[in-house]
This record gives sequence, structure tokens and C-alpha cells, in this order.
Amino acid sequence: MIAIIIFSILIVIFVTGKYEKHEIVKSSYALGTLINLRACGNKAQKAMDKAFERLNNIDDKMSAFKGNSDISKINLGAGSRGEGVSSDTYFVVKKAIEYSKILEGTFDPTIRPLVTLWSIGTKKEKIPEAAEIETRLKLVNYKDVVLDESNNSIMLKHKGQALDVGGIAKGFAADEVRDIFLQHNIKSGLIDLGGNIFALGSKEDNTPWRVGIQNPFKPRGEFLGILSVKNKSIVTSGNYERYFIRDGKRFHHIIDPKTGYPSESKIISATIISDNSIDGDGLSTGVYILGVDKALKIINAIEGIDAIFVTEDKKVYMTSGVKDMCMLTDQEFILN
Ligand code: ADP
Ligand code: MG
Repeated sequence: MIAIIIFSILIVIFVTGKYEKHEIVKSSYALGTLINLRACGNKAQKAMDKAFERLNNIDDKMSAFKGNSDISKINLGAGSRGEGVSSDTYFVVKKAIEYSKILEGTFDPTIRPLVTLWSIGTKKEKIPEAAEIETRLKLVNYKDVVLDESNNSIMLKHKGQALDVGGIAKGFAADEVRDIFLQHNIKSGLIDLGGNIFALGSKEDNTPWRVGIQNPFKPRGEFLGILSVKNKSIVTSGNYERYFIRDGKRFHHIIDPKTGYPSESKIISATIISDNSIDGDGLSTGVYILGVDKALKIINAIEGIDAIFVTEDKKVYMTSGVKDMCMLTDQEFILN
């Protein structure tokens, strides 16, 4: 009799899946942004703890603000010496340079002198003098990053040059959290690093994750479309993330390394859908600056990467792979 009862309970558990449902949700700040993690599985708590540990560890290595980070050490040695760094930082900078090449220098991890000049998103934000911009522009050049694989060292050729991996580090971090989740047998999870998203597996009911694409003209959380995905990274670079407005003009945080000013391509939001988030993050910032025509050409040429671009005249451009997974929900936007 007891055996039958236990057996019945087990069947109920099996059918409803209740026993498996150990969903943990946690939010915290790291990498200069709000992190929201969700994991479902028996080892979700352990996975969550490990994930935040790893995120803080990446922040310690790659923050341009922490004096002891690998990035700060490289910046301090600019023009005089190379600095041996962790394999994580080496990998991220190497990837950043790869994307600088692919994106014709629109993505450039040596952008920091301009980023600090503008200081967008901080109390010091201002429109700099044109002459100051000219001076700083001369310091920005990814070709001046010297990588030495034999001892994991990185050097900037000229004094005053400085690295900023803010345009790619969150992608790397999202992939690392994904790997930690997988190691802990998490089959369903959502990794949100300030809008840099990795949708792991599917939802618990086996349907795809639904990820909204921010309407750049509306408050956060109002979407222009919905993506339905399983096991994909979704990264958006947008003009609404960090900006200030002067005389009716918007100055946002994606700086064009050719002009020294916030990008003025017609794109106001660039979303990359990929298997690895480092690719999505590395690509989204640069394609934003490149503009629709070149961006579509470059993305179409890379296997396994899809994109959605929104322009200031409310047109939406998609690569062919997106059309099955994206639904436009705001009638004001026209699919091109
Ligand atoms: P977010 O940080 O909002 O997710 P991005 O991935 O587009 O957005 O990265 C923007 C950040 O990257 C900026 O805050 C700055 O630190 C850095 N950045 C700005 N312009 C460039 C550029 N042209 N190339 C590389 N990094 C950039
Ligand atoms: Mg980016």
C-alpha cells in the first residue's frame, strides 16, 4: 500500500514537473549595470552564487574605474610598458580588436579618452570643445594595441591612450554565466546584464523565451517587437541607454571614432541575435555606427548572426534569419 502511495506521488511529481521546479531569481549591480538572473533547476542556488562571484571577478579585472584592474594597469603603462593580464582580459581585448577590424574601426576599444571627455551618464557630462575632441581623437586607434600571446601581455603604444572594454565585456560575462548555468545542469534560465540578454534553453513549459525589443522613443519596458528564441544571445545598442539632451539634441554614449562625437548614423537601435553574447555585444556597438547599408552587408556575411536595426524614421530592418522569430507589435514602426 505504502509503495503504491509513494509511486503515485512520484508519478504526480513526474507529470507536473513540480519537483524539478527550483526557480531562483536574483538581482544585483555589477559591471556598471543592473543584473537580473533567473535559473531553474535543482542546483539553481549554487549556480546563482557562482554566477555572481564570476561577474564580480570579471568586473575586478575589466573595470576602467578600479585602479587595480587589468585594464587600469594597461592604461597606466600606455606609451611605456606592456602589462601581463589575466587570460580573461587578454581574450576580451583580442576579441575587441577582431571586431574593430571587421567593423572598419567603428568599434574601437581605445575609445576611452573620448568616453572620459564626454563623460556621458555621469555628473560631468558636457559637450566638449571641438579642439579637445580633435586632440583626443588622435589617441584613438585600435591598431596601437600590441598583443603578446607568449606572456598574455597588452601594451598601448602611446602615452595618453586608454582601453575601454565597456562595449564588449558584458557579452563575455553573459557567456560565462551561461557556462556556469550549464555546468550546474540549468536547462532553463534568463541572463540579463543590463539589457545584454542570454536566453538559456527555453521556458520551463518548453515554449521559447520572449524577449522585447525596446521602443527607442518610449520609456523603458515599452517594446516595438518581440523575439521568440531558444538558446540565443540578444544584445541591443541604443541611443536611449545613456544620454543627455542639449538644445533639443540628444548626445548618447556610442561615440564614432572617426568624428569624436556620438554616432549620427540613422540607426538608433541595433540588435544582434547570436549564439554567443560576446559576438552580439562586440558587433552591436560598431554596426550602430556603421549605418544600415554597411551593417546589413557585414552581418549577412557572418554565418549564424542575425540583426535588427531601427532607424530614426521608424523603419525596421532585419536579416532573413530574424523574420521567423520576431513579431513587430508597434504599428508605428514599418518593416523595410
Ligand atoms: P551598453 O553599454 O549600453 O550595453 P554598448 O555595448 O553599445 O552599450 O557599449 C557602449 C559603451 O562602449 C560605452 O559606454 C563606452 O564605454 C564604449 N564605447 C562607446 N563608443 C564606442 C566605440 N565606438 N567602440 C567601442 N566602445 C565604445
Ligand atoms: Mg556592445
